[in-house]
Amino acid sequence: MQKHPSSLKLESWLVAAGRSAEPGAPLNVPPIPASNFILGHGRSYSRTDSTPTWEALEEIVGGLEDGHAVAFASGMAAVAAIFDQLAAGALVAIPDDCYQGVAGLAMAGAARGRWSVQRIALTDTVAWQQACAEADLIWLESPSNPLLTVADLAAICAAPRKSGAIVAVDNTFATPLNQQPLAFGATVSVQSATKFIGGHSDLLAGVVTTRDETLWRQLLHTRALAGATPGTLEAFLAVRGARTLALRLERAQRNALELAQRLAQHPLVTRVRYPGLPSHPTHEVAKRVLKGFGTIISFDVRGDAAVADAVCRNVRLIRHATSLGAVESTMERRAAIAGQEHLPPTLLRLSVGIEDVDDLWADLDSAIRAAN
Ligand SMILES: *Cc1c(COP(=O)(O)O)cnc(C)c1O
Repeated sequence: MQKHPSSLKLESWLVAAGRSAEPGAPLNVPPIPASNFILGHGRSYSRTDSTPTWEALEEIVGGLEDGHAVAFASGMAAVAAIFDQLAAGALVAIPDDCYQGVAGLAMAGAARGRWSVQRIALTDTVAWQQACAEADLIWLESPSNPLLTVADLAAICAAPRKSGAIVAVDNTFATPLNQQPLAFGATVSVQSATKFIGGHSDLLAGVVTTRDETLWRQLLHTRALAGATPGTLEAFLAVRGARTLALRLERAQRNALELAQRLAQHPLVTRVRYPGLPSHPTHEVAKRVLKGFGTIISFDVRGDAAVADAVCRNVRLIRHATSLGAVESTMERRAAIAGQEHLPPTLLRLSVGIEDVDDLWADLDSAIRAAN
């Protein structure tokens, strides 16, 4: 199946795509643990020629945004492959708030003189539009990690850009079900498939999707040369995870809105950041560019870092762990992470899973009360 026919909703595509049409073929593409293939029939070596297992993942994720996808060993491998397209001396624009790995990669490259970096506030649409005219790589992440700022991607991606510039959107927090960067005009959309696509905290993978065929071939070439290929079992598990993405997201998102509303009323919570709450600074933009507000909530507890750490130790159903986008709810204090020291010391990032919402609330409420 090639891309998603307009007659199929994304929810159906997730279930139907990435399967063989051959009579007698397995209904699910199996994990094919092959480094090489018998010569004479196209594929010879997996790093250069791919495998049917990776291609199943690429068909599913690429089709969600009506583009061509390339799967990588991790989200960061996918990010690095995009930065790898830059010529020496390029200008890169990145958000003020973004995934610390992306900021780290950009700043490390700048320190070695490979490119220069400009940081722009995600809410400054005009500055981003200007960056589109001047920069070679315009790197957006929305909603952002962990402040959940929503950028006006529709306005930014439609801005005139420097010839050859790449407008990249890290779409990990939204997923293609909630946001379609390529439809807004972005050049590439990036997923850390480790998160929502995989959905079970048991794999690392990344996927880049583009409608630019030349760039798609270049990214395949970069993967072949740099070697950041997806693991076979990981690609298989990511496909299995993708099958239930719509269900998981719907449920977790409903839980997240309910928890955000209850947290906002909590006497020991000083601030709640969730794009679905009218109190969120970019709620109005979120309503325009997102189909759903996602499953991540950042909130501050009254007190100091020690109180916030105690909340993390106190939760039982919710696990004290990093990462996000999985069936299980996890929580961590973000300022405790290297490179994130600038964040409010009491900010807790909660990734809401698919558990019963009242059980989640009981756990959260008692953990907060016991910490004070
Ligand atoms: C996790 C994450 C990444 C990096 O993905 P890995 O699979 O961990 O390499 C990039 N961007 C965002 C927004 C993420 O949450």
